[in-house]
Amino acid sequence: MAQAPQNQELTERFIQFYRNYYREAIGELAQKYPKEKRSLYIDYDDLYTFDAELADDYITKPGQYQEYAEEALRLFDLPADVKLGQAHVRMQNLPESVDIRNIRVNDDHIGTLIGVQGIVRKATDVRPKITEAAFECQRCGTMSYIPQGDGGFQEPHECQGCERQGPFHIDFDQSNFVDSQKLRVQESPEGLRGGETPQSIDINLSDDVTGKVTAGDHVTAVGILHIEQQSSGNEKTPIFDYYMEGISLAIEDEEFEDMDISDDDVAEIIELSNSPNIYERMIDSVAPAIYGYDQEKLAMILQLFSGVTKHLPDGSRIRGDLHMLLIGDPGTGKSQMLQYIRNIAPRSVYTSGKGSSSAGLTAAAVRDDFGDGQQWTLEAGALVLADKGIAAVDELDKMRPEDRSAMHEGLEQQQISVSKAGINATLKSRCSLLGAANPKYGRFDQYEPIGEQIDLEPALISRFDLIFTVTDNPDPDSDSELAEHILKTNYAGELNTQRTNVANSEFTEAQVNAVTDEVAPDIDAELLRKYIAYAKRTCYPTMTEEAKNVIRDFYVDFRARGADEDAPVPVTARKLEALVRLSEASARVRLSDKVTQEDAERVTNIVESCLRDIGMDPETGEFDADIVETGRSKTQRDRIRDVLDVIRTLQDEYEDGAPHDEVIERANAEFSMEEKKVADQLDKLKMKGEIYEPRADVYRAT
Ligand code: ADP
Ligand code: MG
Repeated sequence: MAQAPQNQELTERFIQFYRNYYREAIGELAQKYPKEKRSLYIDYDDLYTFDAELADDYITKPGQYQEYAEEALRLFDLPADVKLGQAHVRMQNLPESVDIRNIRVNDDHIGTLIGVQGIVRKATDVRPKITEAAFECQRCGTMSYIPQGDGGFQEPHECQGCERQGPFHIDFDQSNFVDSQKLRVQESPEGLRGGETPQSIDINLSDDVTGKVTAGDHVTAVGILHIEQQSSGNEKTPIFDYYMEGISLAIEDEEFEDMDISDDDVAEIIELSNSPNIYERMIDSVAPAIYGYDQEKLAMILQLFSGVTKHLPDGSRIRGDLHMLLIGDPGTGKSQMLQYIRNIAPRSVYTSGKGSSSAGLTAAAVRDDFGDGQQWTLEAGALVLADKGIAAVDELDKMRPEDRSAMHEGLEQQQISVSKAGINATLKSRCSLLGAANPKYGRFDQYEPIGEQIDLEPALISRFDLIFTVTDNPDPDSDSELAEHILKTNYAGELNTQRTNVANSEFTEAQVNAVTDEVAPDIDAELLRKYIAYAKRTCYPTMTEEAKNVIRDFYVDFRARGADEDAPVPVTARKLEALVRLSEASARVRLSDKVTQEDAERVTNIVESCLRDIGMDPETGEFDADIVETGRSKTQRDRIRDVLDVIRTLQDEYEDGAPHDEVIERANAEFSMEEKKVADQLDKLKMKGEIYEPRADVYRAT
């Protein structure tokens, strides 16, 4: 055989390579084999330095070369009593990774070793997979050993002893099993531009690399690229799918911002940060096509920069990420603003409340056809995929019921726990949520508290640092400015499109540029993206005394307004942390490492105006944090209590319970409540099960 000497030569080469580079690593492997370690990890760089040609060949013929490398491992001089019989050689740290979306037949990647980077979107349970099945013939007792591959379970055609067709019995003790797991790795959000749909690739893992990563982890995976024929029903189709046989996995726990910020960029960023009107310029750089909303846009900028995540000496952590919610009338540009965030956020996920996958917004354990058998799969949803970035979630009010409960933890603790079917996992969701929602009845009713108008639990609402309400009220002045703005934006679009598509356009380039400049963002998206990444990477501001005072006074003052007699409690401590986060973000916008008095004032103004919009009791005009925190204003709580009191008194007087008309009359007499309000309360109490009707129009309290 002509091949043999060459193989031997290559095996020798690997032995030599190990002697130079991996003597210690192999010694350690030998000590821990097979319980704790079963693989020798080799670095591409080491092999390349040792022998560039060998390294290249390893990449193009990984199956074969891995065998030589493993054979070399078995032949390596070890203490007499150690055998590395089944040890693997796993290549890691390839010089470059392939974009998942760009894998093409013509690139000659099939059958070669490639590296991909991305986020684990789905991960199955680790389950034993049979690699060689031992069949015992029930008639004559002969054993047949059938290797098992990926193409379904193979049984013997006939017994190798008596040549009859069984029956056979599988002997598990004599069969070989290996741990197996399947992952779906999806391109990381930061690699995507302009809202491309992320692509993914499936990776099959076996033995000691299984169970190391979970949904939501950012990984670099090295593996052999294979193709597999698709089938529809029982029919094979001419179309194939890519998948990878996983060789090694590395978790990228660091910021893994592959954004390149050059020295020139840094110079430009620093110059920008010194401009006196930097905040206005930032505002003008967010969704310039949308007119107005300066405060919302400033808040979105603060959200992009985010506060500082604080690690306390006791090991606990306070999130720096800001959550913000836009609630309002339809057609007011909310979706447009959310979409725009995708353009500037270095890492962002845009989705609708319904979610685009079975994992929805948080995470799910599902049992579907992913994986070879009926394994449980853990799937990451939007908040997990947006880890360390922004999750822009439109139509948040339409989210799935499962997400509602998981969201609280996701937003405050920034992790999501899944515990179902034996899967107990905690996924990281260190992201900022930018949500948009419509009021429950389609349009916003200013005379009802916000908590009652959106389909979100009060506990969830209170997790938001800022809540903006967007109402669409006709107003001749602002309507005409809005019209002017939309017409100008559209006109700029028209000119631009005509110049591009019509050869002899009547407009000159200068004309087009003049109009376009007016509606272009002040700081272009590319630079702004770098600016934000740079600030988050380098700037960790701390509070000055003046800033602390402003925030303390604001808080105490707000609380004091609620301190007299029976007044509603206006603000809770949660807002205090929100204020700190917001003012840190405000300092970061200037790349300042000090949070100044101006920063604190800037954000107390925003918070006050948000609170005024949402926290104000529409009936008394007082601030009332209870609306935000519990969904009921104090006036309402009083009214509910009063109506319940009336019912309790009346049900003692009347045998059947409190008659409807009587309740209305008493409530009116004692608390001067209008008939309609009382009737409303009765409906609400019935709905909430706090009272019931033993007969029509007669009530009892439960
Ligand atoms: P929403 O999500 O609030 O229902 P959209 O974002 O879908 O609304 O906006 C509807 C349309 O109205 C969009 O084409 C948007 O450009 C336009 N529009 C709404 N408000 C504004 C505004 N303030 N400035 C510019 N365009 C606006
Ligand atoms: Mg919308």
